[in-house]
Amino acid sequence: MSTQDSKATGSAGKAYKFEDHKFDVVVVGAGGAGLRAALGMAEQGFKTACISKVFPTRSHTVAAQGGIAASLKNMTPDSWQWHMYDTVKGSDWLGDVDAMQYLAMEAPKAVYELEHYGVPFSRNEEGKIYQRPFGGHMQNYGEGPPVQRTCAAADRTGHAILHTLYGQSLKHNAQFFIEYFALDLIMDDDGTCTGVVAWNLDDGTIHRFSAKMVVLATGGYGRAYFSATSAHTCTGDGGGMIARAGLPLQDMEFVQFHPTGIYGAGCLITEGARGEGGYLVNSEGERFMERYAPSAKDLASRDVVSRCMTMEIREGRGVGKDKDHIFLHLDHLDPAVLNERLPGISESAKIFAGVDVTKEPIPVLPTVHYNMGGIPTNYWGEVLNPTADEPDRVTPGLMAVGEAGCASVHGANRLGSNSLIDLVVFGRAAAIRAGEVIDRESAIPDINEKSCDKIMERFDRLRHADGGTPTAELRLTMQKIMQEDAAVFRTQETLESGCRRMDDAYKQLSDLKVTDRSMIWNSDLVETLELENLMANAITTVYGAEARKESRGSHAREDYVDGPYGGRDDENWRKHTLSWVSDAGDVTLKYRGVHTELLQPGIDLAKIAPKARVY
Ligand SMILES: Cc1cc2nc3c(=O)[nH]c(=O)nc-3n(C[C@H](O)[C@H](O)[C@H](O)COP(=O)(O)OP(=O)(O)OC[C@H]3O[C@@H](n4cnc5c(N)ncnc54)[C@H](O)[C@@H]3O)c2cc1C
Repeated sequence: MSTQDSKATGSAGKAYKFEDHKFDVVVVGAGGAGLRAALGMAEQGFKTACISKVFPTRSHTVAAQGGIAASLKNMTPDSWQWHMYDTVKGSDWLGDVDAMQYLAMEAPKAVYELEHYGVPFSRNEEGKIYQRPFGGHMQNYGEGPPVQRTCAAADRTGHAILHTLYGQSLKHNAQFFIEYFALDLIMDDDGTCTGVVAWNLDDGTIHRFSAKMVVLATGGYGRAYFSATSAHTCTGDGGGMIARAGLPLQDMEFVQFHPTGIYGAGCLITEGARGEGGYLVNSEGERFMERYAPSAKDLASRDVVSRCMTMEIREGRGVGKDKDHIFLHLDHLDPAVLNERLPGISESAKIFAGVDVTKEPIPVLPTVHYNMGGIPTNYWGEVLNPTADEPDRVTPGLMAVGEAGCASVHGANRLGSNSLIDLVVFGRAAAIRAGEVIDRESAIPDINEKSCDKIMERFDRLRHADGGTPTAELRLTMQKIMQEDAAVFRTQETLESGCRRMDDAYKQLSDLKVTDRSMIWNSDLVETLELENLMANAITTVYGAEARKESRGSHAREDYVDGPYGGRDDENWRKHTLSWVSDAGDVTLKYRGVHTELLQPGIDLAKIAPKARVY
């Protein structure tokens, strides 16, 4: 066990009992990113804690179906240069070149490591890791044909990875604090992060963790929207903690809609379904993607396919009674292939759409799926706190990895199967970097009481919130605003409306009503803490989007469509948005340049120079 001592401290007149812990490293989050980081830290002998609000193997990573991208060349010719090119193009030239190169180059290593840790990948005839085609992944620098790059364990890849990494982390003695809710970062006066405060949901105790390094791996914030493929736990808690620590979030306006959420339910049908030969049709039975993306067709990147589906529906060619969705056909595929390669989605389609995929099409609709934006980091996962003079200034003691972070490898749009690889490449990178920057001889920092008092004051205020607005009501208001005003297509009008409405919603946070005041399994309070976190993410999303006067990747503005790059304005907007939120909900925006230099030679820069993005 860690060093623990208990003491009671007065906060806002209420006594909370603390248990204090000292660790070299504290990882917040036990999804793919958190577990890969925790494992890497523990392997090096760092005394490592991993805090998770849900049981590790229930993290959203468990739901990842399709697979993990790496240029292993097991099925078709491939190279890290082609993978990098596709990632650059997928990002619509907003990703940081050094980070994207690191991702593509390190990906095969990270996948073989997973294999050796025990991930049960599907196999090809030669017994090598099976790889399937995925959207936006092509051969020959985008020229095509599609490349088979996405390594898969049937359609349960995330599940396999998560279970393996959890087992390995336990083996290396990472210490887990499960069903602990991290409240906030402990910050020193000089801006160094020195720990985190967490609430044990099960027994109501408050735990203060001091550490030489804190790693945020808290996942995305899909639940800021009404309809999302992500779990209800994806509430952007890391982003909320960052905002309250006075640090910026990056590129929040870029929200990915996945083309194939099940109509109504929102559950995901993996892009692997189209990778295995599935295709979309409109009410006329037309495979319309052939018209929009003659080369990649149904395997164009996600932002493109989502927009095409939306246009088909708008032009009256949607399917169903209300002509408001699209059909995905898998019924022409061999049932044996469906059974072997896509068993999970066959089951989801049955349960959530009542459809037998061997006989009928699945009703689908673009659904919020992934957040490209998040906590700005360099390619080592170190959190940035940029200034005008020092755009890459690092926040000491703090890292962020996974969907919570923004390295930025996905830029304005992420390619399918590039998230799972991001989790393990950057989870691993964070551990490597920690091995370099953590001073093993130095003492673990003391608790900054002032910072903790502030954290507990907020906690106590929310616990006793006695206004007129129930948490669930305000959450629904926020989700509807985001769904309506920051959608697949955006205009100045919808975005201005979104800013105004989110301002009003944000103000209502001071009028929240929490009915349960207990400390044990208080889901009312958990959801309230999560709502505050969601709000910080949501308001920066809509403000960042309103300010960005161009179309790029997932940020498709109907009022910016002209020009050689179809509304993308590299001269003025090839830059990252940074957004700060004050306690009162005021958003400040600044910008930081995109990294355009290679990490090391190996690819001709001219190959990845900006051009029109067509599939
Ligand atoms: C349905 C679905 C399918 C997908 N399929 C694929 C795919 O095939 N390929 C691909 O590349 N990507 C896929 N993605 C995307 C990818 O799975 C996610 O981006 C990725 O899993 C996120 O991992 P993570 O480790 O960053 O966070 P998560 O897996 O979301 O884990 C977050 C962790 O943080 C913890 N946490 C959060 N807040 C707190 C707090 N306040 N206190 C304590 N703990 C906290 C949680 O308990 C959890 O352990 C898919 C996503 C979805 C939703």
